[in-house]
Amino acid sequence: MTADQQDHSRRAIPRICHDPVSGRPVFVAPQRGGKPDDRALAASLGDSRDPLGWCPFCAGNESRTPPDLARAPADPALPWRARIVPNTFPITVPLPRQAGPDEPREAGGIHDVVIESPRHDRSILDVDADAWHDVWSLCRQRLAVVASLDSLAWATVFKNSGPKAGASLEHIHSQIVGLDVVPPAIDAEMAAVRRDAATFPRLLEAARRGGRIVAERGDLVALVPPAPRQPYETWIVATCPEAHFHATSSERVVAIADLTRDLVARLERIAPGCHYNWWLHQAPFPRSLTDDRIAASWHWHLEIVPRLSEFAGFEIGTGCHITTRSAEESAEMLRDAGG
Ligand SMILES: [Zn+2]
Ligand SMILES: [Zn+2]
Repeated sequence: MTADQQDHSRRAIPRICHDPVSGRPVFVAPQRGGKPDDRALAASLGDSRDPLGWCPFCAGNESRTPPDLARAPADPALPWRARIVPNTFPITVPLPRQAGPDEPREAGGIHDVVIESPRHDRSILDVDADAWHDVWSLCRQRLAVVASLDSLAWATVFKNSGPKAGASLEHIHSQIVGLDVVPPAIDAEMAAVRRDAATFPRLLEAARRGGRIVAERGDLVALVPPAPRQPYETWIVATCPEAHFHATSSERVVAIADLTRDLVARLERIAPGCHYNWWLHQAPFPRSLTDDRIAASWHWHLEIVPRLSEFAGFEIGTGCHITTRSAEESAEMLRDAGG
């Protein structure tokens, strides 16, 4: 390999850069420019049902993804209902090379895809309840493995559902990312818990007092937060302190699976076809925590944000959001939309 080729292949490795003024981290992942976009393909053919049998996530096309990291059921002799594979276009590398003093460093971590159905389903509501439990159970299992990796500081599972939410493949899937840094959103939540160890209990209590509870399942609560970024934003919050999703009980796994389906069904009744994101906010792994109070007082939670309007100049430029519906009104409408 020539020096030029070496330089080029090194530049294709995902890196993390920090803005020197704001401290904002940016993941530079040049190879993601080549990732497939079946929506563009489908639009060009006037069809959105995997017209060419091309979809890498459909059963029968397993050779188009890297081998499984985990699958449900675990027995490879049985047909799979959900599988987790390494992302072909990752934003991280498992073993980052030591950076020179003036170089951006390689972004260390793992980046997986959770394929949530063997069929070309486009909504989680197309998956039956038992299979959806399997998906969440598989995520917990994989997150436990990720938590055991010494190099990592934090991990999440997140979903982009629909193009307005950033999805480029329509076959239902989510992603697991483990990082060797703690992201700013979690730093901000840790600062709140450091200031007040009762941050999460107060959030739950205020939602109950303010009529912002949408649904409850076991000891998980779905509530509209006091300052939702979009109409019908909902958080699923564990009512007891629990720092990490991988340590949660099987009952809670079933509860979060049922609540996500329930909330998406409500959203579908209010705003049919609505695109949305969700992401898990758990505490950093113990090896990255200097303050024991964080782990003891954290409640993992899933934030579900519908994408009814674009995040535009004001949102990106200021970090503030504008919404058109109050938290209380959103909660009332979501309650009324229960099946
Ligand atoms: Zn598919
Ligand atoms: Zn959060």
